[in-house]
Amino acid sequence: MSVVDAATGEGFDAHAPLLIVGAGAAGLCAALAAREAGLDPVMIERDAVPSGSTALSAGLIPAAGTRFQRAKGIADSAELFAADIQRKAHGEADPAVVGAVAKGSGPLVEWLADRYGFPFDVVDNFNYPGHSALRMHGLPSRTGRELIDRLRSAAEAEDIVILTGRVAGRLFAESDGRIRGLELLSGDGARERIGCDALVLACNGYGGNPELVRRFIPEMATALYFGHPGNRGDAVVWGEALGAQLKHLAAYQGHGSVATPHNILISWAVIMQGGVQVNAEGRGFCDESRGYSEQAAEVLRQPGGIAWNVFDARIAAVARQFEDFRDAERAGAILTMESVAELAGAMRVPVKALMDELAEVEILKSMRGCDRYGRQFLPEQHFEPPFHAIKVTGALFHTQGGLATDAVGRVKRNDGTLFPNLYAAGGAAAGVSGTTAAGYLSGNGLLTATVLGRLGGNAAARQVAK
Ligand SMILES: Cc1cc2nc3c(=O)[nH]c(=O)nc-3n(C[C@H](O)[C@H](O)[C@H](O)COP(=O)(O)OP(=O)(O)OC[C@H]3O[C@@H](n4cnc5c(N)ncnc54)[C@H](O)[C@@H]3O)c2cc1C
Repeated sequence: MSVVDAATGEGFDAHAPLLIVGAGAAGLCAALAAREAGLDPVMIERDAVPSGSTALSAGLIPAAGTRFQRAKGIADSAELFAADIQRKAHGEADPAVVGAVAKGSGPLVEWLADRYGFPFDVVDNFNYPGHSALRMHGLPSRTGRELIDRLRSAAEAEDIVILTGRVAGRLFAESDGRIRGLELLSGDGARERIGCDALVLACNGYGGNPELVRRFIPEMATALYFGHPGNRGDAVVWGEALGAQLKHLAAYQGHGSVATPHNILISWAVIMQGGVQVNAEGRGFCDESRGYSEQAAEVLRQPGGIAWNVFDARIAAVARQFEDFRDAERAGAILTMESVAELAGAMRVPVKALMDELAEVEILKSMRGCDRYGRQFLPEQHFEPPFHAIKVTGALFHTQGGLATDAVGRVKRNDGTLFPNLYAAGGAAAGVSGTTAAGYLSGNGLLTATVLGRLGGNAAARQVAK
């Protein structure tokens, strides 16, 4: 149990100028930025090898105005990106934070590419809902595992200390909220106390804490949690005890396309390229092109809490750039048939319902029409055999609520003033998705992890150096 204690001001076993809790994308970006600013940060990570939810992601970072975009003739700007974020968030996100992450996104990707040699390119063969420019930057494998491994290697090359196998438990703070240090617990039961001049919370959200999910996001209380189990909401628990402003706690990134029972993420490219979701009755049930996040709850509301992604060989070829999709193929999760009737048989859904549904969709595609839920189809999305189907369910990926911060990650008190030396980034901080799952624009997770991590690490280092 995480608790906040009054600082004794003494009794620490060691001292670090900057402590960072969590070695995911947020923590590692904060550490690299702090190191660059001349500080020796110390990271605390519960796992033996850093992975976090970052490793489970596709590792795609949205960024505007990069040289990777310019090389492909893609016009984009921080202003356009900020407007996209706010449109998806229904204008509920903090404009200062939105502006900072949109503006910092291009420099972030170029920083990782130029200073640390990350071989980014921009995904140019499909777009995610809500982005008005192609701006997802990914590494060759399109995996978060590659992203976290490259971040960890960069930190190691910079001699950044990562204390692995340690859980940050008790937090010591003075009555004005000045953080004095942390108590760490190792697997063998050993405890150590480290004092600090500043603290960055980069320990993500509360997806791995069923009690907090039940409390803040009841609609996902029984859903599969697909993020890192070690993200148990410590930032929120500490923040609540410290009197920090907690914001948008019902917001989350869901995903309506996790292959079941295989538990493999199936890229939303399948839908954006013209694939459709039908339920166990073979019928469409909503406009799935609005976004994968809000689709999690939609799928869970269907009979049996499942849906089928139905698509064709052209779409499969696009999705195959993702290792997860190739894994799903190897695991036998993907049905392939030459006709819709055979596919319906393999899916065990009513043949006539599926044939009628897909026939209607094909007509809509030919005339650029909209279905009964308002989804628009395009002629180039026309299906050709062979046809594919994957049974999927909805899952909770990560929570988007957290500690309210200013534009460089300084944590706010309940009254809106700033804590003297406390920062938050990534899933520990309130995101830019507003109050609901529907407000999540693809990439908001790694965007706020990497950019706010970098900004917070830099700001904390400059504060400590003063
Ligand atoms: C399947 C999946 C796919 C996704 N795909 C994308 C995508 O393509 N693009 C995108 O933008 N976002 C994506 N996301 C979201 C994205 O992964 C997260 O938003 C992002 O990784 C958060 O980074 P973070 O550093 O805040 O947290 P994490 O990467 O989870 O790191 C937090 C770290 O803190 C450690 N920790 C927690 N508590 C403590 C403690 N008390 N003491 C010590 N250590 C602690 C954890 O062990 C963990 O290593 C995806 C998420 C999932 C689950």
